[in-house]
Amino acid sequence: MTAERREHDRGAPVAPSGVPGPAPADGVIALLAPDVIERIAAGEVIERPASAVKELLENAFDAGAGSITLEVEAGGAALIRVSDDGAGIRVADAPALFQRHATSKLRSDADLGRLATFGFRGEALASIGAVSDVEIVSRHAADGTGFRLRIVGGARESFEPAPRTTGTTITVRRLFFNTPARERFMHGAREEAMEVARVVTRYAAARPGLAIRYLKDGGPALTLAADRDHESRWRLLYGADVVFHLVPLDWIEHGVRVGGAVSDPDHSRGNASEIQLFVNGRLVADRGITGALLAGYHGLLPARRYPRAIVMLELAPELVDVNVHPAKREVRFARRDVVQDAVRHAASRALVARLDPRGAMDRGGGAAGARAPLAAATGAPLAPLREHPAHGYADDWFGKGSEGAVSPPGAALSPDPSGAPPGATSARGEDAASSGLPAQIDRTFILFADADGLRLYDQHTAHERILFEDALRRIEVRRGEAQELLIPTVLTLTPEEEAGLALIGDALAALGYSISPFGERTVLVSAHPSSLRRWDGGAALRRMLATGAADGASGARAVAATYACRHAIMAGETLTRGEMLALVTSLRRAAEPELCPHGRPTTLTITARELRHRFRRE
Ligand code: ADP
Ligand code: MG
Repeated sequence: MTAERREHDRGAPVAPSGVPGPAPADGVIALLAPDVIERIAAGEVIERPASAVKELLENAFDAGAGSITLEVEAGGAALIRVSDDGAGIRVADAPALFQRHATSKLRSDADLGRLATFGFRGEALASIGAVSDVEIVSRHAADGTGFRLRIVGGARESFEPAPRTTGTTITVRRLFFNTPARERFMHGAREEAMEVARVVTRYAAARPGLAIRYLKDGGPALTLAADRDHESRWRLLYGADVVFHLVPLDWIEHGVRVGGAVSDPDHSRGNASEIQLFVNGRLVADRGITGALLAGYHGLLPARRYPRAIVMLELAPELVDVNVHPAKREVRFARRDVVQDAVRHAASRALVARLDPRGAMDRGGGAAGARAPLAAATGAPLAPLREHPAHGYADDWFGKGSEGAVSPPGAALSPDPSGAPPGATSARGEDAASSGLPAQIDRTFILFADADGLRLYDQHTAHERILFEDALRRIEVRRGEAQELLIPTVLTLTPEEEAGLALIGDALAALGYSISPFGERTVLVSAHPSSLRRWDGGAALRRMLATGAADGASGARAVAATYACRHAIMAGETLTRGEMLALVTSLRRAAEPELCPHGRPTTLTITARELRHRFRRE
């Protein structure tokens, strides 16, 4: 079956023809000519385990594999094994496999300008073989039997016939065993595992037709059968909630096809780590494209916020130079302006379509265009973003908690027991009014006026500061107050989120989250910090995990900052007077009340003197 599929694949390149397909039909490995070698971008190919994983996966893609199993132990330092059902390697080619610049994919100088395969330099296996203990078992369909070849530190250890179905298994052990400098440079196994998870997740997202099994330290970490299309794949990979907020890209301009999807503006993130770019199927990074993508949002994104995006560009291979970076992480476009325009237009088109109810995609019921978050993005009126707790407001919102050890001393405002509805002035609000009556400006700023002048607060950054200090205290004293969930939530994590959990799980537990493993990529959340305003089904927790994964944030401060940012009152939320008072009172008790954890100001004062000056009274 696989042989037939490959033949079919081979004969049917995807249009435009730039998407890497199987290796050239002859599949014979040959040394590159010296003049071609000279033109190859030199440098470090294998910098860390994840780069070996990337190269091995790409080799399997080039071999036309429909199904790949990846096994990784200790972040790749102990073991990396990739098995594929691709075309396999001829016995006759085995001796050349680990020679530098031996490849079946590139013949002449001219080929360099129109590459349709991931590999072309014949360097990956040579580089891996030189610094590890590697074994290849492979069989090509044209050979009666396969072979087993073992190379240790670049030297051939053994070479013998071996049975195998068509395809290739490469096992890499003891990576960097003979290069102590590199070994020392490696991060911990968890960090490396996270980077591996990132590569796997990204390629899984881009290649829905690929069946993939990823085993981490002996246990299954990701199992995906071949999927029908990208959307079904993303649903399995990221979860339905994430996919719901993705807007598909579908645009062709001057021969550049832009596919994939971007998140709608209200589902932005604090960093650009979830912007993934594929150029003709190849995972690369490109600041210019990221910039063009952001420009496509036309200011719909708040400052320093980034979308989640999977941008898949297809263009004629002649128009992309993939031979610019040793690890092939970057490409050069012949017409950069054309490509960036296409990306910007693709994003802006898609987002405009989402804003217009008639043009919006209906994803699983309901007119997507009428969703409140878009109103928020455009500044149109919107319903309150959160449900107010039944009792009007809770002091726990503001992070004071009820635990003696972590509650700052002083005249705490107690929760309003009157059950005042949002918007109503609570009895307590009146009591505290001696410090000035608050007003909310643009549902973002809080204004207090008293005899000394005007004091303004940014409701988000102020709340962030309060939550941050509180979370930090809780993590440090390991006394986070937990609130049991009535119904525990089951979350299916992406490999990245799972890796994030390994990194920041301890801090989350200290904060009050109770998260236990519950099968493959699945966890059970049975409690959350009691200071949480609202349990959102785990959406904020997921974002914390992803951020943890992205930042490699294992420190308490980073977790506390993320927690605070995710749970703070947003700009655009209507606050009652009581809420405003409680917020400001709590902020005054903070250790560093002036700045949010990210360094933005929380408050601003206009003194009476300044007022006098501006009214030209002095
Ligand atoms: P490149 O991919 O740049 O050609 P590599 O060092 O990655 O260089 O691989 C060398 C050669 O080994 C490839 O050209 C290909 O012919 C063969 N090869 C490597 N991995 C596989 C695989 N999984 N299936 C089939 N052939 C492979
Ligand atoms: Mg390769």
